[in-house]
Amino acid sequence: MTDNSRLVGQTGKVTAEMGGNYLIVGNGPAGYAAAGAIRERDPLGEITILSHEGTALYSRPGLAYLLTGAVPERSLFARGDEDYRRLGVRRLAARVNSIDPQTRRLQLHDGRLLGYDALLLATGARAILPDVPGIELDGVVTLDTLADARRILRPRRRGGLSGTGLFCGQAPPGRGGRGRRRGP
Ligand SMILES: Cc1cc2nc3c(=O)[nH]c(=O)nc-3n(C[C@H](O)[C@H](O)[C@H](O)COP(=O)(O)OP(=O)(O)OC[C@H]3O[C@@H](n4cnc5c(N)ncnc54)[C@H](O)[C@@H]3O)c2cc1C
Repeated sequence: MTDNSRLVGQTGKVTAEMGGNYLIVGNGPAGYAAAGAIRERDPLGEITILSHEGTALYSRPGLAYLLTGAVPERSLFARGDEDYRRLGVRRLAARVNSIDPQTRRLQLHDGRLLGYDALLLATGARAILPDVPGIELDGVVTLDTLADARRILRPRRRGGLSGTGLFCGQAPPGRGGRGRRRGP
């Protein structure tokens, strides 16, 4: 394990040029911005961004427009592989199952262990499913990720929307626009 005194100085402030091992869980805007901020302060550090999606940073708000057909999938990607390379950030596709702060290690879905000096959890938020009968049925979906949007776009006979967020206001015309709306 790395000596933590390399990371935090006497004042408790993180110092520059530390060469630390930084692990960021979450590759959304928060995780990516944090990687950039760390790189500015620590040019030598090893930075890894972990996300269970494994893709480059993309726009979640844009998912609604992907569903409407207003934009193609590739236009959602705000960053590409080259941006991560330029930042000197390693990207890993993995789900974090548990964290052991005592040993400063994460356990991944496949049992692998990853050590860190400093850990940032930037794991965002997920839709909460209401407790209603039938919620567990196949075909009931949420829209949190690109994978969700791809699933929703697979041809289905009929669909409905539940919720009051922005997405619910945007999606119905789009579903019609993609020629999947039925009825009046
Ligand atoms: C359809 C939709 C529309 C939206 N529209 C708007 C809008 O109009 N305006 C607005 O301000 N906001 C909107 N939002 C919300 C906005 O996208 C989020 O606030 C923003 O993405 C949060 O960024 P974040 O970096 O905190 O987390 P996220 O972007 O949610 O990223 C979380 C990351 O954590 C990773 N992760 C989570 N758990 C684990 C784990 N156990 N192991 C490994 N990785 C993990 C995920 O893979 C992901 O990379 C919308 C969201 C959605 C889904």
